[in-house]
Amino acid sequence: MKMGIKTTNKTIIILVVIWSTLFLFSSLPFKQVESNISEKENTFSNFKFNDTYVYDLIRKQVDLGPRYPGSEGIENARHLITSQLNQTKWKIDFQNFTEIWNTENITCVNIICEPKERNHSEQAFLLLAHYDTRLWANKDPDPQKKKDPVPGANDGASGVAVALELGKILLDYYNSTNFQLVFFDAEDQGEIYDWNWLVGSRYYANSPDFLNENLSFGILLDMVGAEDAVFKRERNSWNNAKELVSWIWDEAHSLNFQNYFSTSFFGPIHDDHVPLLEKGLPTIDIIDEFGIRFKQWHTTSDNMTFIDTETIAVVGLTLESALSGLINETEFISNLPSVNFQNPIILSSPIILILLWAVKRSYTRKKDFN
Ligand SMILES: [Zn+2]
Repeated sequence: MKMGIKTTNKTIIILVVIWSTLFLFSSLPFKQVESNISEKENTFSNFKFNDTYVYDLIRKQVDLGPRYPGSEGIENARHLITSQLNQTKWKIDFQNFTEIWNTENITCVNIICEPKERNHSEQAFLLLAHYDTRLWANKDPDPQKKKDPVPGANDGASGVAVALELGKILLDYYNSTNFQLVFFDAEDQGEIYDWNWLVGSRYYANSPDFLNENLSFGILLDMVGAEDAVFKRERNSWNNAKELVSWIWDEAHSLNFQNYFSTSFFGPIHDDHVPLLEKGLPTIDIIDEFGIRFKQWHTTSDNMTFIDTETIAVVGLTLESALSGLINETEFISNLPSVNFQNPIILSSPIILILLWAVKRSYTRKKDFN
């Protein structure tokens, strides 16, 4: 009898434990995640953006090794990028220029792609990204690795892959032909030897390839693939093209992506959109909060470990939705004010950003001690 009672008690305890465990696992976050996913699948079933393709294309670029200007890796990246576009539908131009880097002549190449059916009498918009990766990982916490190359999964490959996929689906599914994809070389080598930042985009912005074009606006994608990314409204974009920033951010919020597309501000950032803004073209930068949130920035850890298909999907679906709507909004586009650019350049220099970050960090540490 005593034994019997003990066994019953044990059985009750075991059943209670099993029941509570099942309750816990079935009720809380899991259920919510499941319902969010199925809700999203319904909302996005008509979308064409393929995050798996983009993820693979990021990985393929990283597999090519370092892709700094003049390297074998960047030459292979050019082949990879252009091989993604169907040659019967796309016209591809290479804009070559030579820069001296540590006494060596380096040939740099911007890649300009457009649908063959583009109507040149109508305005076109630009989707932009840099495809070079940084020669030195000077932000790496390991002093031994500061002169190793950056793999550039997020800083380089992600923007290229998202822009390529968007270009393909705009042409193939939305009959949009009046746009260009421009991939810049030599964005990311500032302060290495005597090299500057934004060399490729600056060359492009001063060339007839840009100046003679009939353009309406530009969207730059930089570091758009890392997990838990936060895209704040970048100040140069906001100060010069707030209508376009609002269009994209509103679209993201209508798709429930407000956790990714934050209405806080970041920067101003000195990125490839600046040379175009200086020429008057409304151009915005969609960029993760690098250094502060994306801590692998300019380190040897900017690799596939931190690339996330959810972030890729959030950016891709937002832009598919925003751009497929925008191409029919001819009035909105023609009313975009042209830019009279004034950049507080001192604030946007990377050194100032790092100093601000250091001050913020020491302040936070002090707070922790108190
Ligand atoms: Zn960079």
